[in-house]
Amino acid sequence: MTKPLLIFDMDGVLVDVTESYRETIARTVARFTGVEIPRSRIQDYKNQGGFNDDWELTHHIIREAGVDAPFEGVRECFQRVFLGNGGDGLILRERWMARPGALEKLSERFRLAVFTGRPREEADITLNRFAGGLAFDPVVGMYDVEKRKPHPEGLLKILGGDGAGPAYYIGDSVDDARCARAAGVPFIGIAAPSNPAYLDLVFLFQEEKAYAIVDDINYLEDVFA
Ligand SMILES: [Mg+2]
Repeated sequence: MTKPLLIFDMDGVLVDVTESYRETIARTVARFTGVEIPRSRIQDYKNQGGFNDDWELTHHIIREAGVDAPFEGVRECFQRVFLGNGGDGLILRERWMARPGALEKLSERFRLAVFTGRPREEADITLNRFAGGLAFDPVVGMYDVEKRKPHPEGLLKILGGDGAGPAYYIGDSVDDARCARAAGVPFIGIAAPSNPAYLDLVFLFQEEKAYAIVDDINYLEDVFA
C-alpha cells in the first residue's frame, strides 16, 4: 500500500523566514519609501489573504505608501536583497524548522512533497542546504502552476499523479488553508505562538475547517499519533 502524502508549504512551515523573506520585504519597502514598516503589518497583509506572492505584496505596500514604482524595479531590488551576490543575501538567514530526525521519522509513515509560492530554484537551494537525504517529491513551485494559491491547481497537480491515497497540506497562511479546502485535502495549520497575529491566525484556520493546528512542524507526529 502506498503511504499517505504530506504536502508542505515552505515558508513559515519548513523554514523560518522572518529574517529572510519578511526582512527582505521590509528592506525593499524601506529602499523605495524611506520608511520602516512594522513586521506585524506584513503579517496583517498575509492574514488578509491574496498576498502569497512576496513581490506583489512588496509592490502593493510601496504603492500604498504613495510611491509609484514599477513592479519590475521592485522585483529586481527584492531579488538583490534576498539572493545577494555570493554569500550576503538574506536567503542565508533562513532557519530550518525541523528538529534533527523529526522529518526522517515522519517519512517512515508518509511520503513528502512541497507546494510553495517560491520559484522552484529558490526552493531547491533551501532543500539542498537543509533537507539532507530527505526526498520531497514532487516539489511544485511558482512557475509550475498557472494559478497561484489559494487556487488549488498546485495541490491537484501533486494529487493527480498519485494513487489518490490520503494526503494532507501543511501551511501557515489563510491562502494555504483555502487552497487545501478547494482541493478537498485536509489542512494542518502552523501557527507559531510568537507570531504577532497568532490568535487571528488560529481563528482563520478554524473558520477554514482546519484538520489540526500546531505550533510548528515538530508537533506533526502528535497529530498522527
Ligand atoms: Mg507560507
